Amino acid sequence: MARLWNFSAGPSALPEAVLRQAAEEMLDWHGSGVSVMEMSHRGKHFVQICDEAEQDLRELLGVSDDYAVLFMQGGATAENAIVPMNLIGRRGAGAADYVLTGQWSVKSHKEAAKYGDVHVAASSGSETELDGKTQKPWTWVPPVETWKVRKNAAYLHFCSNETIGGVEIADWPTAGQLGVDDVPLVVDASSHFLSRHLDVSRTGMVYAGAQKNAGPAGVTVVVIRRDMIGHALPICPSAFDYANVAPEHSRFNTPPTYAIYIAGLVFKWIKAQGGVAAMERMNIAKSELLYGYLDNSGFYRNPVHAPARSRMNVPFVLADESLNDAFLKGADEAGLTQLKGHKSVGGMRASIYNAVPLEAVQALVAYMQDFERRHG
Ligand SMILES: *Cc1c(COP(=O)(O)O)cnc(C)c1O
Repeated sequence: MARLWNFSAGPSALPEAVLRQAAEEMLDWHGSGVSVMEMSHRGKHFVQICDEAEQDLRELLGVSDDYAVLFMQGGATAENAIVPMNLIGRRGAGAADYVLTGQWSVKSHKEAAKYGDVHVAASSGSETELDGKTQKPWTWVPPVETWKVRKNAAYLHFCSNETIGGVEIADWPTAGQLGVDDVPLVVDASSHFLSRHLDVSRTGMVYAGAQKNAGPAGVTVVVIRRDMIGHALPICPSAFDYANVAPEHSRFNTPPTYAIYIAGLVFKWIKAQGGVAAMERMNIAKSELLYGYLDNSGFYRNPVHAPARSRMNVPFVLADESLNDAFLKGADEAGLTQLKGHKSVGGMRASIYNAVPLEAVQALVAYMQDFERRHG
């Protein structure tokens, strides 16, 4: 068996130790005589698995009991609708504001517009001059001082890591910085969840599809301040109403049991590595290695404004685009897989999530150096 260095943007690499443990426990979970997939979601074994996953995640994020932790279905895309259906009626006016920094936040905004009066608070969808250089659309983050948030908005939404463009917002704004008191942040953190310290206590809600950095596809993690719950529009499906899901500890109806189990193993793996702080140290080392190499090369280039660069998703282009196919073919032969960029951006993208070790990034940089030597 030969496992590849997997740079997929999602579903993406999982820790090998987690996959091995799941394989060992596949037929008989902890002497229960059945697989996790075969258990009742209301039986004591699965209740233990689910509650431990919630507890471990709370510890990793350091969230207080003011927040509910939910395991939902439908991915972050469904959450784009579930969020306004649950929250936009919160303050009566039916208004919500969105910051646009790339394709995912644009999708969130478009979906939310079906449910109310939705405004763009700021957008990086145009060219701008920054640090004496022209930045292309979606390669920068509008400064927080320019975000125009309406006082009557039920919430302010942004995507804290644009998986396609490789643009990250790590320092989340406070109410004071935004100049509004009661407009809670709602953050799509799918692709950098658990990769670094994120201040959940500054938000009303954070959500993340697990398949980027926290587990397999099929489960979406929602961390929501309890006072945000209970304002759903009448059209909200019961299974997506946080007021139904929260009191039942994500077991209002059958949750994605196996996906929750694997995500729970990932949480335990992160704890064993030293928690989110250890992940962050490793992710700094990995991303500095890759960006450092890109910035010193005339052969490859990352287009994102340096302070907004994602530690998780690193898009890059070759100076000579006609070499793209040769680059990808050679990468595959070197055991480096899923490096092709998103079709809308072109070029390459290396997603270097928690489960992608430093060794993988070293192998990637070695390959890139070798390719440059042969073709540069
Ligand atoms: C992948 C992704 C989504 C969409 O997730 P689905 O599970 O496919 O719905 C939304 N937002 C971000 C930031 C993502 O990376």
